[in-house]
Amino acid sequence: MTSYLVSFCWLLLFIGGGVFLAYQRVDLRTSTIAAAVALLTYTVFGNGWWLWLLLMWALFGLMVIPNLVEIRREKITRPLLDIYRKMLPTMSDTEREALEAGNVWWDGELFSGMPEWDRLMSFPAPELSDEEQAFIDGPCEQLCQMLDDWDICHNRADMPKEVWDFIIKERFFAMIIPKQYGGLEFSAYANAMVIAKLASRSPTASSTVGVPNSLGPAELLLHYGTEEQKNHYLPGLAAGTEIPCFALTSPQAGSDAAALIDSGVVCKGKWNGKTIVGIRLNWDKRYITLAPVATVLGLAFKLYDPDHLIGDKDDYGITAALIPTDIPGVTVGRRHYPMTIAFLNGPTTGEDVFVPLDTIIGGQEMAGKGWKMLVELLSVGRAITLPSMAAGGGQAASYATGAYASIRKQFNTSIANFEGVGEALTRIAGNTYIANAAVSVTAGAIDQGQKPAVPSAILKYHCTEIGRKIGIDTMDVHGGKAISMGPNNYVARNYMASPIAITVEGANILTRSLIIYGQGAIRCHPFVLPEMQAAGDADTDRGLVDFDKALFGHIGYAISNLARSFFLALTHAKFSRVPLTTPTRRYYQNINRYSAAFALASDFAMLTLGGALKKRELLSARLGDVLSSMYLASTVLKHFENQGRRATDLPLVEWSVRTLMYQAQESLHAFLRNFPNRWVATFLRIFIFPRGRTYSAPSDELSHKVVDLMTRSGEARERLSRDAYTTLEPGNPLGLLQEALELAEKYAPMERRLKQARREGLISADYLGLQIEEAEKAGVISKKEAAELRDYHAKVTALLAVDDFAPEELERTGDAAKTVVPSASNSKAVKKKVTTKKKTARKKAKPKKTSKKAT
Ligand SMILES: Cc1cc2nc3c(=O)[nH]c(=O)nc-3n(C[C@H](O)[C@H](O)[C@H](O)COP(=O)(O)OP(=O)(O)OC[C@H]3O[C@@H](n4cnc5c(N)ncnc54)[C@H](O)[C@@H]3O)c2cc1C
Repeated sequence: MTSYLVSFCWLLLFIGGGVFLAYQRVDLRTSTIAAAVALLTYTVFGNGWWLWLLLMWALFGLMVIPNLVEIRREKITRPLLDIYRKMLPTMSDTEREALEAGNVWWDGELFSGMPEWDRLMSFPAPELSDEEQAFIDGPCEQLCQMLDDWDICHNRADMPKEVWDFIIKERFFAMIIPKQYGGLEFSAYANAMVIAKLASRSPTASSTVGVPNSLGPAELLLHYGTEEQKNHYLPGLAAGTEIPCFALTSPQAGSDAAALIDSGVVCKGKWNGKTIVGIRLNWDKRYITLAPVATVLGLAFKLYDPDHLIGDKDDYGITAALIPTDIPGVTVGRRHYPMTIAFLNGPTTGEDVFVPLDTIIGGQEMAGKGWKMLVELLSVGRAITLPSMAAGGGQAASYATGAYASIRKQFNTSIANFEGVGEALTRIAGNTYIANAAVSVTAGAIDQGQKPAVPSAILKYHCTEIGRKIGIDTMDVHGGKAISMGPNNYVARNYMASPIAITVEGANILTRSLIIYGQGAIRCHPFVLPEMQAAGDADTDRGLVDFDKALFGHIGYAISNLARSFFLALTHAKFSRVPLTTPTRRYYQNINRYSAAFALASDFAMLTLGGALKKRELLSARLGDVLSSMYLASTVLKHFENQGRRATDLPLVEWSVRTLMYQAQESLHAFLRNFPNRWVATFLRIFIFPRGRTYSAPSDELSHKVVDLMTRSGEARERLSRDAYTTLEPGNPLGLLQEALELAEKYAPMERRLKQARREGLISADYLGLQIEEAEKAGVISKKEAAELRDYHAKVTALLAVDDFAPEELERTGDAAKTVVPSASNSKAVKKKVTTKKKTARKKAKPKKTSKKAT
C-alpha cells in the first residue's frame, strides 16, 4: 500500500513538474535539464520497476532529440517544411499588404496565451495639451451650441452656412495637419475627443468633421506625399479653401474594394497648353463623403501603361491620386441621403479626365502602391473616427436616458425603478463605458507610436455595434418620445445614424468574419507569420533555419497553452500572476485564463483546418469575438486605472468585464460546439472547460448599482459622459435633463410630503401638476415651495413633450420629391435640372409643441 502511495506521489511530482515548466514557459534546454535531474533522482531514490524506468528514460530520450538542433533540422524540420509549403494557402498581393499593415501591440500579448500586463499598464494615461483642451472648451463647445440637428437634417438637409464657415474658420478639418502647414496638429486622443463631443450633439457634424481628419487626402499626403504636393495642398486643406474627399468605393466594388474597375491609362495629352505624359482617368464612384462639395478628390483607380511610357509594366495596380474637381470631365455635386443624416455624401464620375503624372500621391514611384497606402492608414484611422462617434453618442445616450428615466414617471414612480427598464439602462451605461475605454486607451497607444491594425478593426466593429445597441436601448427607454420626430426628439437621429457607422470603413459583417481574426491569426500569433515568411524565403537554407526556430517555438508554445488553459480553468485562474492587488484583480486573472484558452483553440483550428479556416467565417468570427472581448476588457481595466481608480466606477468596470468575459466564454463554447473535427473539439473542451462553463454574466444586483450610478447626479455619472456636450443652455437637451434631474433630487422630500398628504386625505390629486395647487391651499407646502415646484414641473413637462405638425408642414411632394429620385443619378442632364430645383423646393416644417402630459 505504502509503495503504491509513494509511486503515486512520484507520478504527481512528475506531472506537476511538467505542468509547472510548461505553465511558466520554461525553455526546452532548461526543461530538459530539469527532467534529467528529476529522472536521475527517481532512478536513485525512487521505487520504480526497471520496465517503468526504461520507459521513462526512453521518453526522456525523445525530449533530448529536439535539443540537438542540427539533427532535428534535417530529420524533422526539413520534411515538415516541404509539407507546410504545399499546404500554405495562396495569398494575393492585396491580402499580403493588408496583413503587413500596422504593427502588433497588446493584441499580440493576448494572442500569446500569457499576457505581459506591464506592457499595457506602463502606457501613460492619455492627456490633452492645454491647447487641445482650450479648443474643446472653446470652438468645440461653440460649434455644439450652433448645431440644431432637426433644422440641419429635416429642414435643410445640410448645415447652415454659418456653421460651415465656423468649422472652416476654426480649422476643424485640420486637426491632423501639422502646424507648419497651418493645421492644428492634434494628438489622436484630442481628435477622438473632439469627434466624441460633436457626436454627442449631431451625427451630421461629427461625420462631416470626422472624414477629413481620418482617411483622406490630408492623411495620405502626410504619409506619402512629395514635399511639393504637401506644400501645394496642405495649407489649403488646413485653411478650408480646399475641401477633400476620398473616393474608393464604386458600384462594382464595395466590400471587395480592391476589385475596382476605375481606370487610369498612361498616355500623352494636353495640360496647360503643353503636351505631356499623363493619365487619362475614367471612374464611377458612389457613397463618397464630402464629394458633393469637394474641391480635391483623393481617387483610387487601377493604373495601366500599355505603351510603356513610364516603365516596363503594363499593369501597375491600385494607385491613389489627387484630382482637382474643377477640371474637365469631373462630376461632383449630386447627393445620396444616408439615413436622413445630412452630412454631404454622393457619387462622382470622371470621363476621360486627363491629369499629369505628379497627381499620383507620392509621385510616379508610388504608382501601384495605392492599396498599401490605404490599408496602412486604415490600420490607425479605424480606431479613431467611428469608435469615438460611438463613444460620444453613447455618452449622450447615458446622460440623457439616465435623467429621463428618473423624471419620467409611470405607475406613480420613476420608470428607472422598474427592473426591466433598469436592464436597458445598465446596458447603455456599461456599453458606453466599454466604448469610452476602448477609444481612450487605443488613441493613447497611437499617440505613443503604435499602429495597432487588429485593435483598430476590433474597435471599428465593436464600438459601432455597441453604438447600435445603445441606440436601440435608448429608443426603448424613451418610448414614444423617441419615435416622434421633431426638434424635441434628441434620440432618434443617433439611432438612425448607427447603420452608417456599421457599413462604412469595412462593413461590419465582413470585419468580424474576415478581418479581426483573419488578420489577427497571422499578425498577432507569435509564430505563424515567421513560419510563413520562412517557408516563402527564396534563400532555402535561411528559410530552413528560420522555420525550424519558429516551428519548435510554436510546439513549445502549444504545449504551454495546453498546460496553462487546463490549470487556469481548473483553478479559476486564482493563482495567476497579475499586476495589481486591487478589487479588479480577478478580472486580470480571468483574462489570463481566456488568453491561454483562446491561444490553444486558435492553434488547433489553424492546425486542423489550415487555409480552410478563412472560409469557415463563423468559426473565425467566434475566435475573433474572444480576442475582441479580451482586448476590450483589457482597455476597461486600463481606463479604470487611467482615470485614477475611482471606487464609484467599480460597478461599471465589473459589469463591463463580466459581460465581455462571459461573451468570450460563450463564443469559445459556440466555437467548440461547431468545430468540424469532433475528436479535436472534445480534446479541446477538456483543456478549456474542464469544469464546464462556470463564468457568469453580471448579476441583477450589479445592474441595480449601475442604474443608481447613472440615474443620480454625481461624479460617476459625470465621468461616464465627460466628453459629451452637457452645457446647460436652452437648446441642449443634455444640459436641461441634468438640470431637471438635480431639481428632482432637490424636491424629492417635498414630493414625499405631497404623497403623505395624499395618503392622509389632505389632497386628492395623484398627478404632481394638480397636486401643487391643492397642497398649497391645504398648507402642506408654502407659497415659495409651490412656486419652486411649479417651475420644476414646467421644466419636466417641456422635456417630456413631443412635437406635432400640421399636415401641410410635413408634406414633401411635387418638386421637392423629385430631388430624391435615385434613378436620375447617372444622367448629367437630369443632374443639373434636379440640383437647381432642389435649391428652391425645400419646405421648412415648423413644429408646434402640444403635448401637455408630464410626470
Ligand atoms: C454613408 C456612407 C459613407 C461612405 N463614405 C465613403 C467614402 O467617403 N469613400 C469611399 O470610398 N467609400 C465610402 N463608403 C462606402 C463604404 O465603405 C461601403 O459602403 C462599404 O465598404 C460596403 O460596401 P457596400 O455598401 O457596397 O456593401 P457590399 O460590399 O455589397 O456588402 C453587403 C454586405 O455583405 C457583407 N460582406 C461582403 N463581403 C463579405 C465577406 N467576404 N464576408 C462576410 N460578409 C461580407 C458586408 O459586410 C455587408 O454586410 C461610404 C458608404 C456609406 C453608406
